[in-house]
Amino acid sequence: MFRVHFLIFCFVAFATGALKGDDAVSGPTREKPKPAANADSGITFDWIHVDGPYVAMTFDDGPSSKLTPKLLDLLAAHHIKATFFLIGENAAEYPELVAREMREGHEVGNHSWSHPNFGKMSDEGVRSQLRRTDDAIRSAAGNRPTLMRPPYGSISARQKKWINQEFGYKIVLWDVDPLDWRRPGPNAVCNRIVKNTRAGSIILAHDIHPGTIDAMPCVLNQLEAKGFKFVTVSELIGMQTPIPPKPSATPKSAGASTTAPSPTPHD
Ligand SMILES: [Zn+2]
Repeated sequence: MFRVHFLIFCFVAFATGALKGDDAVSGPTREKPKPAANADSGITFDWIHVDGPYVAMTFDDGPSSKLTPKLLDLLAAHHIKATFFLIGENAAEYPELVAREMREGHEVGNHSWSHPNFGKMSDEGVRSQLRRTDDAIRSAAGNRPTLMRPPYGSISARQKKWINQEFGYKIVLWDVDPLDWRRPGPNAVCNRIVKNTRAGSIILAHDIHPGTIDAMPCVLNQLEAKGFKFVTVSELIGMQTPIPPKPSATPKSAGASTTAPSPTPHD
């Protein structure tokens, strides 16, 4: 009996400890998986319907003085433009890296000042997080960002609305999540991304984990081999086309329907 209780205790301690440790110790590293749902009235995006094999790579929580330069070198070698969702604290500490991201044609977005959970915060707290980061990015990059990604993907419908109205931000989530913050190793990160990416995907990764950076040569090579082309999130949103209506459940004649949603060429 004692043994069973002890085992249960260990499990609970491990589970809660792991969660607390992840939030409290490693800080801005963790994103919860989000179910995919398409844009809500032009404000929120996690996948874009596009005609063509276009995808957006996104990197959160940087810049990192050690890893971001390495990633930028790799992206430049591949002539790939990506989108960086920056932590304000890091942008303020490494403005030269923000400037380099912009100079090399990448896009930068607001990912809060210190990575709190917006869903549990007052409007005033959220406003301050966004404002300080907006200021840090503007002073480093010369321009205000137009995109925002909430830490952990945590944000209410009401928050989306007022943030969009007040800051003009589009809210960007994702549809491909390799869970790289758990540091599963470069091979797992690469395989998860390559397996789940489709035309219009917004791919989540973090340029603060060495294994994520080590996975990127594999990711970029394999996605390129499958014919995908990389654009920034704003470019991808700009390519959005309407989703064709679903074919009728009872087609009048076989073979008559040509309106079925075209599968991505890489499924
Ligand atoms: Zn984050």
